[in-house]
Formats: sequence, C-alpha cells, structure tokens
Amino acid sequence: MPKAFNGNIVVLIYCKNVIIFILMKILLATLLFSFSFLSYSQNYVAGNVYYGNDSLIEYRCGNLPIILSSPHGGYENPTILPDRNCVGCVTQRDSYTQELTRQIEAAILFKTGCYPHVIINKLHRKKLDANREIIEATDSNFITEPYWHEYMNFVDSAKKLVYKKFLKGIFFDIHGHGHTIQRLELGYLLSGTELRKNDSSLNSSPLNSNTSILNLRYSNLSSYSHSQLIRGSDSFGAMIQKRGVPAVPSDSIPFPLVGEPYFNGGYNTVRFGSKNGGTIDAIQIESHQGVRFDYNKRVVYADSLAEAILEYVEKHYFAYFSKTYCSTASLEERNDLGYISIFPNPTTGLIYLKGSSPNSKIDIFSMDGKLVKSINYTENVDLSRLKNGVYLLRVSSERKVNTLRIIKNQ
Ligand SMILES: [Zn+2]
Repeated sequence: MPKAFNGNIVVLIYCKNVIIFILMKILLATLLFSFSFLSYSQNYVAGNVYYGNDSLIEYRCGNLPIILSSPHGGYENPTILPDRNCVGCVTQRDSYTQELTRQIEAAILFKTGCYPHVIINKLHRKKLDANREIIEATDSNFITEPYWHEYMNFVDSAKKLVYKKFLKGIFFDIHGHGHTIQRLELGYLLSGTELRKNDSSLNSSPLNSNTSILNLRYSNLSSYSHSQLIRGSDSFGAMIQKRGVPAVPSDSIPFPLVGEPYFNGGYNTVRFGSKNGGTIDAIQIESHQGVRFDYNKRVVYADSLAEAILEYVEKHYFAYFSKTYCSTASLEERNDLGYISIFPNPTTGLIYLKGSSPNSKIDIFSMDGKLVKSINYTENVDLSRLKNGVYLLRVSSERKVNTLRIIKNQ
C-alpha cells in the first residue's frame, strides 16, 4: 500500500511538473514571438548588426540593393529547442555556407565601401530550417517558431529598406550541395526539364512568368529576354563562369543534362523573389564542395562571387552603380547621372522629360512589372489615363537606359 501510495504522489508531482514545464514553454514562446515583431519594427542603421532572441538569428543592415541570406550554415544546438525529426526532412548543415556568406559580405564591403544586407541563421539545421515553410522548418515545434519568424522578418525588413532606397534589388540565398559534379547550381525556380526547353519556350508563357527574376525580366537595362538573363553571355552564370567557376545555367552550360542533379530554388527563392510580385528578384546559389571546404579556395571564390554580384547589378539594375554604390540618397539622384529628369513628380497627368536623345523609347511599367504604356520619345507624356499609383518609367536608347519612379495622383 505505502508503495502504491508513494507511486501516486510521484505521478502527481510528475504531472504537475510537466504542466508547469508546458506552461513555461508557452509563455517563453509568446515572449519570443513578441520580440520577433519588435525586431521587425525597429529603425535599422546600415552597418549595424541586430539579433533576435539569444542572438541565434543575425541581421546586418545594409545600404546596397543586395541581400545575402544564409539559412543552412548554422552551428548552434541549444538543448531547449527540440531536434527536427519529421519524415523526409533534411537536417544536414550546408557546410561553410555561413562562412562563405560572411566572406562575400566582406568582399563587397571592401570593393564598394558599402554594406549588403545579410541575414544569418546561426541555428543548426536539425533545429531550424530557414528555407522551408514554418511547419517543416520547425517540425511543428512551437518553441522554435519565433526564430523562423525572426529570420523571415529580417529579410522582409531588408527588402523594405532596399525598396525604399532603390525601388528594386536582388536577394541571394546561399547554399551548398554535395553533388559530385563540381559546379554552381543557380536556382531561378525553373526545373532541369524546363531549362532543357529552347529559348522561345523560356521566353513565352508559362515559363517566362514562373521565374524568381520576373521583375528583372520586365525592367532590365538592356531589354534582355528571359532566356538571355538566365543563360546568355551576361547572365549571372556567365559572370561567375568567366571568373573560373563553372555554373549551370550559364552561356557555357545552359541546362543540366537528363539525370544530372540540379537544385532550382527553394522556399526563400519563391517567397523573397519577384515571382509573385514586387521588385526584388532572387537567385539561389548552390555552391559545390570544391569551392567551399578549403579556406583559401573559399576566400578566392567569395571574392569572385562578390565581383559577379556587383557586375550583375550594374549590368541589369543600375547603369551607374559602380560610380555611386550606396553614396546617393535616392534613385532620383542616381538617375541624374543618366541626364534624365522628369517634372512634376508626383503628377496628376502630364509630365515633362528633359535630357534624353530624340531616338529614345519610353516604356511605363506598373510596380508588378506589367507594361502599361509604350511610346516613342516625347518631352510631354500624358499619364492621365493611368490609375493612381507608383510606376516605373523607362527611357531607353541604343546607348543608355534609365528607369525613374513616378507617382500618379488623382
Ligand atoms: Zn541548403
């Protein structure tokens, strides 16, 4: 009897402790969740580093139109967070991708004197996968969920700051693959099968819409087609390949062959790129082990990636990028370098353009990338038929292309 009686007390005390433990966890998760929103709403200063709870998610605020994300390179294993055990869930770290991301950041800072936005998940992937939707990312562990929100909120904040200063930009999700073919796999959300189709298929529906660089397709400075952006001589793959690192897709390797492994972009590339709208594009970079594992090789590779990223932004986004980088306060000042100005802005209808050659063409895009008006160059453009809102006005000649933001009111 006494034994059974004692056993009941032990069970009761155990149950009470379990309930207290669960209540504490709920309280902690609620607090963490609140903190994650606090971090979302604060004022960020370029060059400063911000942390989520326990410093496990890190964000260095930038002042360039470039965002670097490292979701799979973390080392931290706090015991309070349960391991992810979901069926089919990947829990392996992408080795040295956190180090690689920091080295790309350092190389860009060295070359430009300016900061890219950088978001780092310091948690090991067996705790949090910051490139999955929340259920798989946390294996439904509510105590891990706040860290997922922190990561996503930091990227959203970076995107907002890029948009505010530049109106457009690019997000790179940095990963590492273990495939035996030693080359970069660049993800634009097109599968290997889709990439094996010809250029005209890539340039027509649905493939020309199913892309993480949808906004760039409409607004790139050279009016390149989708296929040229993905695998032409000025594609990101070509820019890294000419620096000695093979990449697919590129002008040299336009698609993976049947049976060859290929990662085409994950959750972050969909969520943070322009496929579903907006003016921030995304490319997933999956680096092979040959450029990641050795420190000296990784430094050289990070430098090449930094160069390719800057070249890509200058070629396709901002024609005078290397003359200004982060030094200009606004897109209007940046465009002054292209000798084009518009007045008045905002406008109720008629705008006047100054500074372009008479042979230019004027295209006006809505902010979701749709062409809404296309005319030959004129100094008086009538926008009275457009709905109120923000538009991108692109003036292009054979020699130069300028994109300016205009606001239509009333
Ligand atoms: Zn990865």
